[in-house]
Amino acid sequence: MGEPKLGGMTLNLEADAPPADGPESGAARALLKRVFGYDDFRGDQAAVIEQVTAGGDAVVLMPTGGGKSLCYQIPALLRPGTGVVISPLIALMQDQVDALLAVGVRAAFLNSTQDSFERTRVENAYLAGELDLLYVAPERLASEATKRFLENGTIALFAIDEAHCVSQWGHDFRPDYLGLSELADRWPEVPRIALTATATDATHKEITERLKLGRARHFVASFDRPNIQYRIENKGEVRRQLLSFIRTEHDGDAGIVYALSRKTVEQTAQFLAANGVNALPYHAGLDAGLRARTQSRFLREDGVVIVATIAFGMGIDKPDVRFVAHIDLPKSVEGYYQETGRAGRDGMPSTAWLAYGLQDVVQQRRMIEQSPGDLSHRRKLSSHLDAMLALCETVDCRRVNLLGYFGQGSVACGNCDTCLLPPESWDGTIPAQKLLSTVVRLQRERNQKFGAGHLIDILRAHKTARVDQYGHDELAVWGIGSDLSEQQWRGVVRQLLAKGLLAVNDDGFGTLVLAPASADVLSGALTVSMRTEPERPAGSGGGGAGSGSSGGGGGSRAARAKAAVADLPADAIALFEALRAWRSATAKVMGVPAYVIFHDATLREIAVRRPASLSDLDGLSGMGQKKLDTYGEDLLGVVAAA
Ligand code: ADP
Ligand code: ZN
Repeated sequence: MGEPKLGGMTLNLEADAPPADGPESGAARALLKRVFGYDDFRGDQAAVIEQVTAGGDAVVLMPTGGGKSLCYQIPALLRPGTGVVISPLIALMQDQVDALLAVGVRAAFLNSTQDSFERTRVENAYLAGELDLLYVAPERLASEATKRFLENGTIALFAIDEAHCVSQWGHDFRPDYLGLSELADRWPEVPRIALTATATDATHKEITERLKLGRARHFVASFDRPNIQYRIENKGEVRRQLLSFIRTEHDGDAGIVYALSRKTVEQTAQFLAANGVNALPYHAGLDAGLRARTQSRFLREDGVVIVATIAFGMGIDKPDVRFVAHIDLPKSVEGYYQETGRAGRDGMPSTAWLAYGLQDVVQQRRMIEQSPGDLSHRRKLSSHLDAMLALCETVDCRRVNLLGYFGQGSVACGNCDTCLLPPESWDGTIPAQKLLSTVVRLQRERNQKFGAGHLIDILRAHKTARVDQYGHDELAVWGIGSDLSEQQWRGVVRQLLAKGLLAVNDDGFGTLVLAPASADVLSGALTVSMRTEPERPAGSGGGGAGSGSSGGGGGSRAARAKAAVADLPADAIALFEALRAWRSATAKVMGVPAYVIFHDATLREIAVRRPASLSDLDGLSGMGQKKLDTYGEDLLGVVAAA
């Protein structure tokens, strides 16, 4: 049953077998078909593979799901020796290796989860030249012993996965990555390929410099993920909004919900579970065993929703994650894009949904003000947050804003909330002046500072104990803003904060003070255009889709992401379900995630075409030689029985 799993060697792949379609240049394509079951390379894949196979270095920037793995896997198969893959994702190495074993590639890993017996098996296989790919954690490679061990075998290439971890500017910095520059000096003749899904110029430069990739060719793919629908809405009762989003659009789908704190993670997971969603919490405070089981359930079972801090998800290559939801504001656009990128790797329609509100902005500005570290560190955090807020508040296409952030031009996409339901904007200069004057008066006349809630109470002439306590109903600004609702005022404050026209004080209480640019608003030199706040239907707590609508009400008008079966012909659905059940059972027996057996896309093709023989199966996307040999007969059985 299955492959020998010890450290993971397996048989049968001769890279030097004559390529099926002729000349040398066809060798890569032949492997693509025979081993992985795909007909064509995507995007830059062929060019990257050519560069690295010929012994050159490469820096590859490709979005999540773009197909980075083949860029080093195929050269590793074509070149003599073992491809050494440096990956920070110890928890996923087993799955990565299993996926390779399933297509007949001789792969193994070395990390701290192994006992010495397993490790020795893997090491011997490497030394004997019996491995095509060897995954190694960066901290392991940092040790001199590991480097000496590697010197005793033949290295086909070094692949540095998640290369943005070398960047201190970025959001996933790993000190061990800095040591990887040594590879260039120690193995000058071995090609190195660095890969990442983070695409800012700053990160790109840091990767190139710190990893000494001065002679590399650079491949920068388009970062567009057209199948992901981006939506950002105002936060009200966020858990209800989330539940309604999941129920109406992604019932039974696999998804990830991100929150900033452990407490929110726990509470949200509980709330979803109590409301019938198959949701599990995941954060760094849970014990390692439980975390591993949770991750494994997410990968292996259908339709699990993980509520997580950002500790979850890096490198998870589950292809059928149908939505990624953020219920707290991400700290940077890079982080947001990486996290949302975990949706829809299989190219099928998926949703990136974010809810954010005034409190998020206040909280994050406050955290930055109080963060340890020098001024330049705080400036960095602040500019990350500003870019994220600009994305949230834009009245233009979200995708154009996102891609623009990564230096890529594009046109309005038609598949984001602002395209589907263009938000209106209004001249908010006068309300902005009213609010800022209130801040000024409190400070000048009373030497007092307050948070948004109390300022809005003053503007709207809302009597509270605190108003009485301070006699604030005697201020000249008392009640000058009763033309706007509380929610509209919160929108005004949020947008002023987002635009840097109002600031959060560094006293730790989230009180509001003037920003340097506030003076221009007060003097009338600067007009302030604002997004119209959708009015939430009372009690629902949810604003439906599309944050910009002035009327709200009409529910979800944004195009709905389809569930996996929705666009299958009716007579193929039963077979598709039968194939999924077979896959599920097989994955359990083999102890691997279902997608390692076959992707949905392959099962869909089988369901539509109803192959009657092995030769009918041969050539389907995702059906390499090894999988045809292993599962072909079983699949024909499922088709015949359905
Ligand atoms: P990344 O690491 O860039 O996020 P992966 O290497 O995991 O992406 O590839 C994403 C998905 O696309 C995988 O399921 C992979 O099997 C598939 N894929 C990659 N290259 C091709 C190709 N040329 N044709 C068809 N599918 C591909
Ligand atoms: Zn758009």
